[in-house]
Amino acid sequence: MNDNNKKPDLHRDTLAVREAVERSPYGENSEALYLTSGYVQPSAEASARRFAGDEEGFTYGRYGNPTVASFEQRLAALEGAEACISTASGMSAILMMCMGLLKAGDHVICSHSMFGSTIKLIGSDLAKFGVESTFVSQTEVAAWKAAVKPNTRLLFAETPTNPLTEVCDIRAIADIAHAAGALLCVDNCFATPALQRPIALGADIVMHSGTKYLDGQGRVMAGALCASKELVTKTFLPVLKSAGMTLAPFNAWVVLKGLETLDIRMRAQSANALALAQWLEEHPSVERVYYPGLKSHPQHALAMAQQSDCGGAVLSFAVKAADPDQARARAFHVLDSLKVMSLSTNLGDTKTLIAHPASTSHGRLTEAQRQTAGVVQGLIRVAVGLEHLGDIQADLDRGLTTF
Ligand SMILES: *Cc1c(COP(=O)(O)O)cnc(C)c1O
Repeated sequence: MNDNNKKPDLHRDTLAVREAVERSPYGENSEALYLTSGYVQPSAEASARRFAGDEEGFTYGRYGNPTVASFEQRLAALEGAEACISTASGMSAILMMCMGLLKAGDHVICSHSMFGSTIKLIGSDLAKFGVESTFVSQTEVAAWKAAVKPNTRLLFAETPTNPLTEVCDIRAIADIAHAAGALLCVDNCFATPALQRPIALGADIVMHSGTKYLDGQGRVMAGALCASKELVTKTFLPVLKSAGMTLAPFNAWVVLKGLETLDIRMRAQSANALALAQWLEEHPSVERVYYPGLKSHPQHALAMAQQSDCGGAVLSFAVKAADPDQARARAFHVLDSLKVMSLSTNLGDTKTLIAHPASTSHGRLTEAQRQTAGVVQGLIRVAVGLEHLGDIQADLDRGLTTF
């Protein structure tokens, strides 16, 4: 650093590789991995001050760790947030947020297109503790507004959604939340801060599953909340300390290193996804393609404005068929004809992952509920990776041309 210790203003690309590198006395260039559950205290007085929160310093592995702190600081820098607190998985980040913000009698508004486990956690698990919830249309701003009640404390949006890539207007929903005296959290898993920074659009909290693009190579589970310093230290940290959904240092180290290549991966995978979506849209066996980067996407203009002109790396498409049974058989035929892609319900990997939502993530819904959600039997989701586009196209064509 320079003489006066003042950090220069750095671009996000630089922060992604350099933010929060605190070197040990050994001067390692790559971030150190601190595997320790406890910390030796310099004195009884210092220990007391640290436990009381009057002095910075690590005390116990459930409360904090230097490698975990580096990941949090770097992710906060990329999201343009004051602070970040990480968790063992994306779902435990949502649990931490809800435990910190909500009490019995409070009301939450979400879209009914959100991640399935999020709907289960907020709609059923939290209902047991007296938290009310309303699920509204992802894309209709008026529906979010109409759902506001005097006890509404949190609006929780996810954009784009899985598997139909529906986009919601973050700024409009933030305004509704703030007019109601509530907070807006955005699940930024699909776009990541490389493409979309919800705090700049008015969101109060950004939630991540680090398991997806932040790791980027499908290795570890992780989660995080980015927010004001006040929310992180006064609302979320106390939950972490008592409930213990702590991110493991090794997993933190993996996602910390993943952030270094996030931007370049997201742009390359989005470019691959756009080219694949355009190719699929012209394919004679394909009924419809869902991808925010396509002009045919209903919220294309909003998505481009909100997501740095990028559609992201996830697309879905429906195969042509006469009825739902034939559609399911054809979708299964495409999946079983693959020789390159991985049949896997995960996403956010450099390896292209492909899934059949109607029999996996949306398998527990009734056929009628699936129809309402638009998750038809012929629908296939592709989380596009970094393989050569021609190999990905040829892999899909194996099944698409042999019905
Ligand atoms: C995977 C995912 C989650 C949950 O994250 P985990 O790390 O699996 O707990 C939440 N939201 C979205 C959009 C996801 O894709």
